[in-house]
Amino acid sequence: MNVCVYTLGCRLNQCESEAIADSFAKEGFTIVEEQVPADLYVVNTCTVTSKAEQKARRMIRKFAELAPTLATGCYAQVNEQELKELSDNVIVVPLEKKAHLLKLALHLKACLVSGMDLKGGCLSFSDGKASVFDYDAASFSYHSRAYLKIQDGCDNSCAYCRVHIARGKAVSLQTEQVIERALALEASGFQEIMLTGVNLTMYDHQGEGLGGLLEKLLAKLSSSVRIRLSSMEPDHIDDRLLDVLTDRRMQPHFHIPVQSGSDHILKHVDRHYTISELSVILDRLRKAKNDPFLAADIITGLPGEREEDFAATRQFVIDQQFSFLHVFPFSPRPDTVLYKAKDRVTESLRDERALELRTISEQLHDAYRKRQVGKRTEVILQNRKGGYWYALSGNYLDVRVLSSPAFAREGMLLGGTFGQVIGKQTWMEFIPDATTL
Ligand code: SF4
Repeated sequence: MNVCVYTLGCRLNQCESEAIADSFAKEGFTIVEEQVPADLYVVNTCTVTSKAEQKARRMIRKFAELAPTLATGCYAQVNEQELKELSDNVIVVPLEKKAHLLKLALHLKACLVSGMDLKGGCLSFSDGKASVFDYDAASFSYHSRAYLKIQDGCDNSCAYCRVHIARGKAVSLQTEQVIERALALEASGFQEIMLTGVNLTMYDHQGEGLGGLLEKLLAKLSSSVRIRLSSMEPDHIDDRLLDVLTDRRMQPHFHIPVQSGSDHILKHVDRHYTISELSVILDRLRKAKNDPFLAADIITGLPGEREEDFAATRQFVIDQQFSFLHVFPFSPRPDTVLYKAKDRVTESLRDERALELRTISEQLHDAYRKRQVGKRTEVILQNRKGGYWYALSGNYLDVRVLSSPAFAREGMLLGGTFGQVIGKQTWMEFIPDATTL
């Protein structure tokens, strides 16, 4: 029987979806992509913008016409009723019960044996014991690298955000557990592990932060395993963390939720850093990794964003030469401080600013890729199409591999050099080291 796990939102959701898919695969279900008809759908939703919610509703409606559909994730947590009303074929599993889904496959198998259908099986399922750290996938159906969840929740309360409302207070997986799970992934052959969480830099186990965790983890993992961080909130990036990032096994790719280049706006939306503090961190990251891929999240049209605030953001992203910008036009989220803000920016101005930043992002991304030509790098092989392997470089660029070794396999780490840039916003060539061929 086919099961499709469809994911919206952040890498943490992707990580949790992979664990859910893995639990179905272990019980003999076939995991399929959305294009392949499935007997059961799981939609892991996001509430970060109204657009993400709109897409979740669209996909849930579409899937529910084909088969029973379980809707879970942050949106399901904050608006269970809205999703329930989409179709009789929708079963809502609020975020606080999402981890229960890891045991659903076993239950469904028993139901099928006793003649019950999948929907009946889902409705009759109840499992009272689950933790936000039960997501511990051993295999990954939708990605070539391993994801490891080490943190959940957030103690900040940024004025635009309702993720902390859906996910609750910050909690961290014990260091010993992180190490044990990472070693198990290494033993399964993964050469890259992405650490995920809602707010990774809030990781804290017995007073030790992310820097301390990485030191211990790197001491245990072999020299052939790479670590990537999903994203880093600037306010808890400390010296210890910046020091450990210099380790060559830490991938040169950092994703920073900058949100605005104006101190006035950062303060207004309750972010806990200033632009000059952030500039120091970005300088250290650049020095640690020699031109790493630096991605920034930016929100345009935050309430109170004046022309001079947007100009400061524009100047900041150009000065910092970010490699890519994830641009989000502000969308007011219910239950947040800014939901009913009076100093709103008009939608047309918000969208105009988003468009301008996206154009700048394309130029910055192009310039970044051109700067890599001829530089040494490492890539993780992802898939093979038309006689070529395609891969992801340590600094997060898609590459097409010229002449790969006979023993190449998905998830394998390969050293080599960046070749020419092919096409706009697509991929670069990668020439593997002769010794690996
Ligand atoms: S740091 Fe702010 S934006 Fe990020 S999850 Fe926490 S409250 Fe939300």
